[in-house]
Amino acid sequence: MDNTTQQHSNVDHAEIAKFEALASRWWDKDSEFKPLHDINPLRASFIDQHSPLTGKKAIDVGCGGGILSEALARSGAEVTGIDMGEAPLAVARLHQLESGLNINYQRITAEAMAEQNSATFDVVCCLEMLEHVPNPASVVAACAKMLKPGGHAYFSTINRNPKAYAFAIIGAEYVLNMLPKGTHEYGKFIKPSELANYVRDAGLQMDHITGMTYNPLTKVYRLNERDVSVNYLIHVSKPL
Ligand code: SAH
Repeated sequence: MDNTTQQHSNVDHAEIAKFEALASRWWDKDSEFKPLHDINPLRASFIDQHSPLTGKKAIDVGCGGGILSEALARSGAEVTGIDMGEAPLAVARLHQLESGLNINYQRITAEAMAEQNSATFDVVCCLEMLEHVPNPASVVAACAKMLKPGGHAYFSTINRNPKAYAFAIIGAEYVLNMLPKGTHEYGKFIKPSELANYVRDAGLQMDHITGMTYNPLTKVYRLNERDVSVNYLIHVSKPL
């Protein structure tokens, strides 16, 4: 990457480094990535329910080691996965050999991908990634640009309020030790109203919003439309 690209790119290199360091454990279901493995069936079926994936061109933005990308491919989509982490992508490429899938993994930003591939994808997914970038609105706009008219996009992130701070940082990082300390920064969390503004500014329309709740006693995650106070997922579409 030359200097100009680096200066202008919407990438926080300290954030990428956190995921590089953990990458070898990405597919270990008892590792730091356990929460992603646990929520994956819920989010993958939510996506397949609203955008049946068979034969669709899908892109997973901030795909990491490919947990969601593989689920999308298993549901019949032709999948591209992009991330700026070298090690997570290496893990994703190896793991798909084991799984016998054929996902196109590339190291590129959402913004650069959108420049090269406008109106290309039926489904764009960008999950648990917006809270790690300097300018989330720019990622949402890039995702909108990649979508074909009539296509659907999915974004998930963490709400910003005292309860989200208590659950996502104190609870997950300090009490339950589910995530390494420093995984998340409170100031980067995004309120649903803010995400709704990014979506509207990108010319997309909001179709659904649902919470993803975790019960620490039963250790069960579920989608809950009535509780978006901590983790939440939205489904949006690009008008025809
Ligand atoms: N979306 C995946 C992984 C979430 S972890 C899932 O939900 O299973 C967040 C991922 O975002 C990491 O792999 C990290 O490398 C990636 N990431 C962070 N900033 C990025 C950026 N600016 N461009 C692309 N990927 C980024």
